[in-house]
Amino acid sequence: MRRRNALYYTAIGIGTALSGCLSRDGDGSASESEPRERASAVDSSPEPESEWRSWPAGTAIETVEDVRTEDIDENWGVTGTAATGSQSIYYAGSTNGSVAFDYADDPLDLTESGMALIVKAKDYSTGASPFVELEDGDGNRWRFRQRVSAAADGWIRIDLAIDDPAVDGVEPDLSAIETIRLRPSPSSNESGRPRLYFDSLWRTPSFDTAKVVLQFDDGHETQYTEAFPILSSYGWSATTYVTTDWIGNDDRCDLDQLEELQDDGWIVGNHTVTHPNLRGLSVEEVEAEVEGAREWLIEHGFQEGANHFAYPENGYSRDAIDVVREHHQTGRVSSLSYPVVFPTNPQLVSGDGDPESSRVERIVDRTIEHGGIYAPYWHRLTGETVDDFRNSMEYIRARERDGDLEVIRMDELHRQLGGDGSTATRG
Ligand SMILES: [Zn+2]
Repeated sequence: MRRRNALYYTAIGIGTALSGCLSRDGDGSASESEPRERASAVDSSPEPESEWRSWPAGTAIETVEDVRTEDIDENWGVTGTAATGSQSIYYAGSTNGSVAFDYADDPLDLTESGMALIVKAKDYSTGASPFVELEDGDGNRWRFRQRVSAAADGWIRIDLAIDDPAVDGVEPDLSAIETIRLRPSPSSNESGRPRLYFDSLWRTPSFDTAKVVLQFDDGHETQYTEAFPILSSYGWSATTYVTTDWIGNDDRCDLDQLEELQDDGWIVGNHTVTHPNLRGLSVEEVEAEVEGAREWLIEHGFQEGANHFAYPENGYSRDAIDVVREHHQTGRVSSLSYPVVFPTNPQLVSGDGDPESSRVERIVDRTIEHGGIYAPYWHRLTGETVDDFRNSMEYIRARERDGDLEVIRMDELHRQLGGDGSTATRG
């Protein structure tokens, strides 16, 4: 691990000058000023085995091992609970505090890399969307961001999405990053005393060529009648996630149609038996939904698809992740819709639901410019949405023809990531 030559930890909001003082956050509300409970190295219960261990890691940049309670303000704490090493830090404030790590004496070269965090959310009702900002010596900033589900009540590894590569209109010099700032950004409607724990920040590798992973959810028949012909004309295949109890219903694909899709190269993935939000279900109920659909897929000849899962309603929990990863190579969730440079956790692949073509174009451009994957998915395609979907596909096709991107399925993504977790990390 790279050592910092200097440390400072403050509760400033992003966009304000660095100082040790509390300041106002981005939405204008005053930061917490009352003292908060401290938990210095007292909370050291062992953590359950989690999927953050299982995947290629990249390089740890910041492990917060040397942060001391007296370095950080009252919104933050240091605790002996950790996914790696012997401690983590947590944020227990209710507004947009941040913590900054200073590398000015030995700047970091973070060119052509992505970012991942090992985090844990505790006592959240909705979740958080932590930011990581990279800042060069001139104050130019690159911002990563990702969503953390409230149900991520154990350590998870999240791959950060490119939120804004030029926060102030100028991209930073990524070869000489002097400051990294973490901002927990709890959802505004949180009540109680939620905590977001940070174990470590990782630099992840990047792809040589941008990837687009086309997907469909819920087995709508329009995926067969509308999307299939368009994709076939471009020589593409997709991943469609089906809810097995719905197969053959009125406006859903039937078995024959799914078989035809598979014969043409599509994979038919797992979207549970009845489409519940898995968060809040018992382990037995989660197993029945996940394993029941997987068994149906295998019995009906969709072996490859049975390795890939999409969470209905983005509802995941510690238990659900554990059940899914037992028998699936990938799990897809919903994200903040921006591209991820390199997914190092295939159990939480970020998807973008029903994007309009204007957004597809913007995000595909960003994916190409900065590398990474974009994984959009669609539901029912009718009327105007068919035309808009066609526009999206035409744009992706044009960029593919220019050699700027590859269109791949979820199983191909898994293979390109190293499949069994043995990815040789670059960069
Ligand atoms: Zn669904």
